[in-house]
Amino acid sequence: MIENIEGTHPIDSLLREGSIPFVWCPGCGIGTVVNTFVETLEKVKIDLGKVCVSSGIGCTGKVADYLKINCCNESHDNAIKCAVKFKLENPETKVVVFLNDADFIASGADDFIEAGKKGVELLVIYINNFIYIISECKVTPTTPFVRTLDDENLELPFNIPHLAKLCGARYVARWTTLHVRRLMYSITDALENPGLAVIEVISPCLMYYATDGKIGETIDRMRFFHNNTVIKHGEPTENLDIRLQDKIIMGRFVDK
Ligand code: SF4
Repeated sequence: MIENIEGTHPIDSLLREGSIPFVWCPGCGIGTVVNTFVETLEKVKIDLGKVCVSSGIGCTGKVADYLKINCCNESHDNAIKCAVKFKLENPETKVVVFLNDADFIASGADDFIEAGKKGVELLVIYINNFIYIISECKVTPTTPFVRTLDDENLELPFNIPHLAKLCGARYVARWTTLHVRRLMYSITDALENPGLAVIEVISPCLMYYATDGKIGETIDRMRFFHNNTVIKHGEPTENLDIRLQDKIIMGRFVDK
């Protein structure tokens, strides 16, 4: 049981020594997702020796470094490939992969599709910070708050839930960092699902979407999520594109 003692963080017992201060920006949703994940592990009373985490590059890549849980990807190499390999060698272990745009869509899509085809049991928690590619001063976001350094080359957001379903995922959900209680329920469901499970969590990177005042302070972001999302469980995944003019559809879309 995690104890909440004054002067400590409630999830201290599952944080590696020296993790705090985190590198994450104050208000970034990655911390919210990790906190929800750890609380869920506590709630479901899972054997932590049978849980393994993989994370790749960038800010989300730090998740595996901070958690005092087995990690199968110390080198932060290809997060999905490492997770699949570990799962196939350790079928009794629950393998959870934390991904961002770069190591999911930009470099891990092939491995994800392959994992789906093989029916590998993984829980993918995809923290969608709406930065598809940042390299050589070029930014191509998958975002409804379209922002890019090259206005000629805006790209539409990618429909991750639909990709997950087409790849054979048995559990697919999407939430924002406002919907932590529902995210907890989804992580619980997904941990119990014997197949590929994908949970997308909308969490725009503050460096790109808050510094110009478009999203504002944390309370403004939560208000935005509240006013611009709608929950539709079971919505066909082809309807889940994220567009500027539409409310973002949240919910549990696939649960086999
Ligand atoms: S706000 Fe952006 S840069 Fe800061 S920790 Fe989050 S994802 Fe990284």
